[in-house]
Amino acid sequence: MSVGLDFSGKRVLVVGGAHAARRVLARYLTSGATVYHLAGPGPHSPVSLVVPGVTAPVFPRSVGAWDALIAAVDLVAVVETTPHTDAVIAAACSRHRTWLSREIAASTSPVGSVTLVGGGPGLERLLTVGALAALNAADIVYYDRLGPTDRLEEWAPGAEHVDVGKAPGHHAVPQRDAERMMVASALAGRTVVRLKGGDPFVFGRGGEEVLACRAAGVPVTVISGVTSAIAVPAAAGIPVTHREVSHLFTVISGHAPITDSELTHLIGLGGTIVVLMGIGTLQQMAAGLARLGMRIDMPVAIIERGFAHDQRSTFGRLDTIGALAAHAGVRSPAVVVIGDVVSLAAHGDEAAADLLREAATLQA
Ligand code: SAH
Repeated sequence: MSVGLDFSGKRVLVVGGAHAARRVLARYLTSGATVYHLAGPGPHSPVSLVVPGVTAPVFPRSVGAWDALIAAVDLVAVVETTPHTDAVIAAACSRHRTWLSREIAASTSPVGSVTLVGGGPGLERLLTVGALAALNAADIVYYDRLGPTDRLEEWAPGAEHVDVGKAPGHHAVPQRDAERMMVASALAGRTVVRLKGGDPFVFGRGGEEVLACRAAGVPVTVISGVTSAIAVPAAAGIPVTHREVSHLFTVISGHAPITDSELTHLIGLGGTIVVLMGIGTLQQMAAGLARLGMRIDMPVAIIERGFAHDQRSTFGRLDTIGALAAHAGVRSPAVVVIGDVVSLAAHGDEAAADLLREAATLQA
């Protein structure tokens, strides 16, 4: 539960086993509260092993002892307990006008899980409800620069955040190492989220991560995201399909040069071409398409940094886009759109500006 209350200086008593309560403990600690933890009457693993920073009072053995404890705190968060203890706590809370919050237990299975979360193209409003729920339940989030990270602290309160886009030496963590880290965390019983930009299965190496989890026996699920292949053109006012203009679109990676035979096929299809990771090979692609028979006045758009405050679109034609891009100094991340739908972008980046203004109002 996130109610946006300020807990700094408040005393919070969390009731429940250390593993089941670990996220609730972490969340209240993060929110600035002084946190006390009652795991149960028996001998338990010291909570400090799970979440450092909390105090464990003596477990109350009588109604009077519960009364004294509950009178001394501002809020009791019950994660799990017996029905009898629950009733004693509820009665004491109502006597002392102490807030009572019933909280959801974290998974205590010996093997955790991995959820690949598509974070969309960067705008908070384009995160799905499923993405936010998965982040909220995470013990650890592995993220990179393409995923939305502005408010990760709020979306995944109390979770550990690990940047696998960059290591301390500023080099990207190799894909296999990132997979090993995720699997190791899950095998240690943690609820892992891998937050990715756009959709995990659109050039996101999500398929490889699913296979790595399956090979290690780790339960894995995928939450689809809004892909930049559609949303970034839209943010510049370009629909990837439009009645009577284009009834198909092809999404390709420009990471490696596209062969002549692939280009010939794309021209033959006749629909919209959307290129991701295409800045490095743009000149080669535009020249190849023109050489192999595409109309040289075919409209082309390059949209850089979609949904960021400095989103920029460069519009041209097949025969001019190379020079325009070089002149403008376009850089990654950018989406290239080739096709007649580009002419429909009457308002260009104004569409994105409107969306960002609206989003800012909603978040204010
Ligand atoms: N899985 C992602 C794509 C990963 S490949 C998705 O579905 O969107 C990375 C490429 O995506 C970048 O090189 C760029 O071409 C594109 N991209 C992702 N986010 C973008 C953004 N906000 N603005 C422009 N291009 C973006």
